[in-house]
Amino acid sequence: MEYLDGSPYEYRSFPFPMISIGWLGRAHGLQNEGSEPLAAADFDILKRLSARPGSVTLGVHECELCPEGEEFEGNGEYRYYFDDGSVYSAPVMILHYVEDHGYSPPRPFVDCLRRSTALRWDWRAERLVDLLLDESADFDFRCEAVIDLPKWRDSRVVSAVKAASLDEILADSAGDEIGRSLGILARSGLMELADLEGHSDFVRFGIREVLGG
Ligand SMILES: [Zn+2]
Repeated sequence: MEYLDGSPYEYRSFPFPMISIGWLGRAHGLQNEGSEPLAAADFDILKRLSARPGSVTLGVHECELCPEGEEFEGNGEYRYYFDDGSVYSAPVMILHYVEDHGYSPPRPFVDCLRRSTALRWDWRAERLVDLLLDESADFDFRCEAVIDLPKWRDSRVVSAVKAASLDEILADSAGDEIGRSLGILARSGLMELADLEGHSDFVRFGIREVLGG
C-alpha cells in the first residue's frame, strides 16, 4: 500500500476522515526530498504516540525500501489524534522508515507532534463511544473504537470499555484488545481491576499483557 503523504486516508474504511503519512513504497520512495531529518526529540514523541497499533488483522506488509532479502515486516497502523481535530494514520513501519531509511514525516504532522498534549474530550471520542456501544454498528469500527478510546483518559471511556467487556460477541473476537484497554485504563488510575475473575480468558490475556502477572 503506497499513498502520498498528506493525502486523505483510504487504506480501509474508518469512522471519520484521517490523513495518510508514511505509507511508503517503491513508486514514490521516501517522499521527503529536501526536508530536514526528524529531530531526536520529535522521534521520541512519535515513538511514545506509536504505542498501540490498530487494524492489525489485515496482514503483513514488507518494507519496499530495504535491500532485497532483508525485508522488514510490519502489521497494522498507528493512529495519531491531535487536539486540533486532525487524525493521522501511518503503517506501524513508520518507526522503521524513520530509523533505518531517514524518512522525515511532513511538517504539519511534526508540528502536531510538538504541540501534542493529553487529548481533550471531543466529538471523535463521542463518536467512538457511540459506535462501541451500538450493537448494530459496523463490527470492525467497534473493534477499532476499543483500541483508540483509551487515548482519552476519561471516565466515559472506562464505562464504555467495561460495557464492551460484557458484550459477548465483541469479547469473543476482540477480547484481547478489550483487555489491553482495561489494563491501560487501570494503569493510568482511572479504574480498579479487582474483579478479574469476571472476565473471559481472552480479556484477561489482554489485561495481563499490559499489567503483567
Ligand atoms: Zn526497510
